[in-house]
Amino acid sequence: MDLTQANIDTLRARAAPKGLNFINNAMILAEDGAEIPVISPIDGTQLSTLAASSAADMDRACAVARAAFESGVWSGMAPTDRKRVLLRWADLIEQHALEIAVLGARDNGTDIRMAFKGEPMSAAATIRFYAEAVDKRNGEITPTKKDVLSLIHKEPVGVVGAIIPWNFPLMIGAWKMAPALAAGNSVVLKPSEDAALSTMRVVELAAEAGLPAGVLNAVNGRGAVVGEALGLNMEVDVLAFTGSGNVGRRLLEYSARSNMKRVYLELGGKSPNLVFADAPNLEQAAKETAASIFRNNGQVCVAASRLAVERSIYDEFMQMVVDASRSFAVGDPLDLSHTTGALANAAQLSKVKTAVATAADEGAAPLCGGQQLLESSGGYYHEPTVLGDVRTGMDVVQNEVFGPVLAARAFDTEDEAIEIANETVYGLSSVLWSRDISRAHRLSARIKSGTVQVNCFSGADVTSPLGGVKQSGNGSDRSLHAMEKYENIKATWIQL
Ligand code: NAD
Repeated sequence: MDLTQANIDTLRARAAPKGLNFINNAMILAEDGAEIPVISPIDGTQLSTLAASSAADMDRACAVARAAFESGVWSGMAPTDRKRVLLRWADLIEQHALEIAVLGARDNGTDIRMAFKGEPMSAAATIRFYAEAVDKRNGEITPTKKDVLSLIHKEPVGVVGAIIPWNFPLMIGAWKMAPALAAGNSVVLKPSEDAALSTMRVVELAAEAGLPAGVLNAVNGRGAVVGEALGLNMEVDVLAFTGSGNVGRRLLEYSARSNMKRVYLELGGKSPNLVFADAPNLEQAAKETAASIFRNNGQVCVAASRLAVERSIYDEFMQMVVDASRSFAVGDPLDLSHTTGALANAAQLSKVKTAVATAADEGAAPLCGGQQLLESSGGYYHEPTVLGDVRTGMDVVQNEVFGPVLAARAFDTEDEAIEIANETVYGLSSVLWSRDISRAHRLSARIKSGTVQVNCFSGADVTSPLGGVKQSGNGSDRSLHAMEKYENIKATWIQL
């Protein structure tokens, strides 16, 4: 189905499915039948329900995943056959892409263009990337004396627990599920309460593609209940998480309190965007600066939420950013005339409003936006908001808003720009604009972040790793390196 308004309208008229649990290739209710209402951020009405599973439901899924792993039904399958199943899964996701994207947009408010490209299509591309890697990675032989054969094999770790957030659940879910499954593991997924419906459809398609029962399971429910149960489960060997720092800290505790499972964390960011007067194209830089924070309402982990502009061009550049910000059309995410949809939930809207009010109290200059939108719709909409003259100590500079709020100020020297870039506890991503290639290399080396983007925003794809330093996390999603998170290396030393 093509991305047309008529097709979108047909799909949105369908009743949304319930978000059940997927265990052993069957969609089932929580054992006690408990449910959580699913509220659509488009208009604040109830869209569906989600299984409110218990710790016992989660433990059952982990036991099933362990049994599937030990049986060798997937972990022992020939790599070329594993590849074939994963490729079929990617094809099925693509075939159902619009249906999945519309369901996802109704659940988390992402505008349909982005929901289509950034969710099912991106997930399919990621699954294909790791599928293709399955039969192309070799083991190693280490240099030893002639009477010894020393081998290094890559082995799957066993059971991978994956906990994902509500922004881009399919893209981020695929970043974890695909390399973990490609490496031969079983997976237990804990979707977000705010974006489970499209995730469950994608999980169901894996079974249709031929993934054996028990290899991929998904359990819904409240993070504090089923997320904790997954974190504490003794059958889980690796926990892969994307979400907030507070929950990330808890996962480290769960690991310490249980079997010391490896914990990979992709956490928040407060990414800097440094614009020098010699940027190759200031208009383009201004447009991408606005896109980098207002796309998907700023609910993007790598959103460049802190802007620092060389003083000689500050006023001119900020005017361009304000103009670009006003070009965003915020409203119903399923209307193709809108560029931007709703914030994911009521708490997120309230967080944005509080951040804007606090910034005003602390002396930030309002340059545009600042207001809730479309309140009478019942949905969660907010204007793209630009704040100028911010300072290091301000709340809006130090804390992730995860909303459409840009905090800007001027800088005078390269050293000052670097100080600004590194002024928070985060280190996920960064952007810098300059035509001076030496400066680009010099500064890239000094910025403490997992990714540096030069003269572009979000140019990266699945071939390139995404991970944070400092309190933005550890390990990386994407790229072939991500498979190593879900593998152990086994040394075999043979006396000949
Ligand atoms: P969140 O931390 O509130 O929730 C993430 C997941 O953790 C959800 O599935 C939730 O149910 C679960 N959870 C909640 N409490 C739990 C607990 N006690 N134990 C175990 N699991 C629990 O995050 P969110 O609000 O869904 O997502 C927004 C956050 O995610 C932001 O901080 C954003 O920066 C971050 N994020 C990071 C990246 C990245 O790649 N670094 C990408 C996207 C989002």
